[in-house]
Amino acid sequence: MSEKKARPAVFLDRDGVINVDPVEFVTRPEELQLIPSSAEAIARFNATGVPVIVCSNQSGVARGLYTMQTLAQISQRLQEMLGEYGAHIDAFYYCPHDDADNCDCRKPRPGLLLRAAQEHGIALEHSVFVGDSWRDIMAGRAAGVKTVLVLSGHVKPEMLDSAEIKQHPPDHVAPDLQGAAEWILHQVNSCE
Ligand SMILES: [Mg+2]
Ligand SMILES: [Zn+2]
Repeated sequence: MSEKKARPAVFLDRDGVINVDPVEFVTRPEELQLIPSSAEAIARFNATGVPVIVCSNQSGVARGLYTMQTLAQISQRLQEMLGEYGAHIDAFYYCPHDDADNCDCRKPRPGLLLRAAQEHGIALEHSVFVGDSWRDIMAGRAAGVKTVLVLSGHVKPEMLDSAEIKQHPPDHVAPDLQGAAEWILHQVNSCE
């Protein structure tokens, strides 16, 4: 019996990486604002055949700001916007919980990444997680993937000296997803 070989993936946080960081929450599809250069980067990943998987905290669900159904509509709207650039997301994983739920999937915990890896046959050690917050970097490190911090959202360049970032140093820092694309492609393509 031949087992399918585990493959690398590009894991992405959503807000502040693919779309403009809403500061609070994206509560309706109409509020999504795509970062165009991120769409171009995702199209480059898609062209190599590597799965692109979103792993995003959405505690607005636990707080009653929007439902899982609305969240699915927001994902669909994001796919439509990406489609204009020939880009798509292969799977969405959301944590709908808040801190009080003490779940295993709210980043900085690695549950979303671990579940996605299991369900898609992903080799975590050859994969990359891109996020805009220390929570993303900590989750990525806990899951055993390489980590990229982008400065297109929560963390600004002047915050790179902060204790939170120093305690959870990423493997790579870039201005945005497009700026990290070469590094990411090198990582996921160098695992043969
Ligand atoms: Mg974010
Ligand atoms: Zn959760």
